[in-house]
Amino acid sequence: MAPSQTAQPRRIVIAGGGTAGWMTAAALARTLGSVAQITLIESDAIGTVGVGESTIPPLVAYNRLLGIGEADFMRATQATFKLGIMFENWKTLGSKYFHSFGGTGKDHWSAGFQHFWLHGQTQGHTQSYDEYCLELKAAEAGKFAHLPDDRINYAYQLDSSLYAAFLRRMAEADGCTRSEGRITNVELNGETGDIAALMLDGNRRVEGDLFVDCTGFRALLIEGALHAGYDDWSHYLPCDGAVAIQTANVRAPVPYTRAIAHDAGWQWRIPLQHRGGNGIVYCSRYMDQNAALERLLSTIEGQTLTEPNLIRFTTGARRRQWHRNCVAIGLSSGFMEPLESTSIHLIQRAVLRLVRMLPAGRPSLRDIAEFNDQQFTDMEQIRDFLILHYKATERQDSPFWRHCAAIELPDTLAHKIELFRETGRVFRRNEELFAENSWVQVMMGQGIAPQSYHPVAAKLKSEELAYLLSSLRENVARTVDGLPPHGAYVAHYCGVKADQAA
Ligand code: FAD
Repeated sequence: MAPSQTAQPRRIVIAGGGTAGWMTAAALARTLGSVAQITLIESDAIGTVGVGESTIPPLVAYNRLLGIGEADFMRATQATFKLGIMFENWKTLGSKYFHSFGGTGKDHWSAGFQHFWLHGQTQGHTQSYDEYCLELKAAEAGKFAHLPDDRINYAYQLDSSLYAAFLRRMAEADGCTRSEGRITNVELNGETGDIAALMLDGNRRVEGDLFVDCTGFRALLIEGALHAGYDDWSHYLPCDGAVAIQTANVRAPVPYTRAIAHDAGWQWRIPLQHRGGNGIVYCSRYMDQNAALERLLSTIEGQTLTEPNLIRFTTGARRRQWHRNCVAIGLSSGFMEPLESTSIHLIQRAVLRLVRMLPAGRPSLRDIAEFNDQQFTDMEQIRDFLILHYKATERQDSPFWRHCAAIELPDTLAHKIELFRETGRVFRRNEELFAENSWVQVMMGQGIAPQSYHPVAAKLKSEELAYLLSSLRENVARTVDGLPPHGAYVAHYCGVKADQAA
């Protein structure tokens, strides 16, 4: 039987024009072109959350998918390259470790490189695990360049408002219509319960077939009108406040983000071409907003360029991110704090899923269930990875860290930690975002030491093991030696004149 093709979702209405709104608009407009009428409503008076500057590598692919030229994008968003995150004071006060993009050493099909490294440690090869990771060593040296065959894995540190503006230009050129105004009411269809239209100030009414809620923490459509519900994860991830501020650069930008733990949360530093992004994340049970602001202001470098941006949030996620004819994308769908820079990535995943599952007529309940399941699973997996940073700590120096040490783990994470502790193994399930290298670096960085390793590692003769380890280290060191300083490379790549470069 021929498939029945009912009407296209001709009118897609995106409520909200932050990073989520414009990432959605740009992808839909580019992919669907003339078969859908895409409208985005945003309110300059309300503004955006104004943070979200550190990203992870899949954004490189997202931009390529949309046909965005990298140098154009980096110029427009004042972006720098990012090779990972430097975690400071997480395991103990004064400790440091690096979570890099890419891999470490060379895996065997039967066992990850950590098994060979662990065996090496027992045989007198005492070099740090870090010595085998190109991205990590390049970051430490403050160097970067693109390498043939995408041999260096990277993401960007960018100005999110400039990214939204860049995507807006693209989306509008591809036919998306922007409507300025405040949404004052969400009108439901009395029979179906679906959203029928959005009412804007000035008594304007915007009808649609499919609505995308990108209204940020307000979640005006998905929660305000449809009451889709929210799973509160603050018992796992207790931080609930942040203060962000921008500063002038005081040195050339480094190719990594810093996450510096303090006694009731942590602080970020994100170097862009034209300025730095700084912020503090805190748990209001142990630190109030004034103390957080004071801590931030007393520790940042460089002249402040903005007023402090004070933000409150509840970590968690919606099980029903697509409900009826409304899909929540961005902060309206959930938020797990920015520790591993995963929010923009979740926007990207949701947008690509929506494009793949776009209904021809009324949304299929199976599509909706599939979308919700995939999106929620992504979030649970990321949640587990974030909890690891708080829970696996030796810090006991403040009530906050003692609280974190007592967090009851989800079974999924407890299993992962114990498996690694006993065997050195990590398994990646259902295309989960963080791969083996990420788990190994963070678990070891937080002080979880495997008690054994795969027997295949001991099969190597001592000369073979010595050769393997030294050649891997030398290869990393040689490659890093040949890389240019990151700041100079960015300036050259973006065509910035030397005297303008940071
Ligand atoms: P918003 O930026 O809040 O946009 C909401 C939009 O809805 C705005 O355009 C607003 O005007 C509009 N709107 C709301 N109400 C109405 C109304 N009534 N009428 C009309 N329009 C309306 N993510 C990362 O990936 N990396 C990071 O490093 C990172 N750091 C973060 C740090 C903090 C402290 C926080 C809180 C978040 C961070 N994030 C980070 C998350 C990231 O900021 C967001 O995922 C991203 O900015 C998307 O936000 P949004 O578009 O969903 O919401």
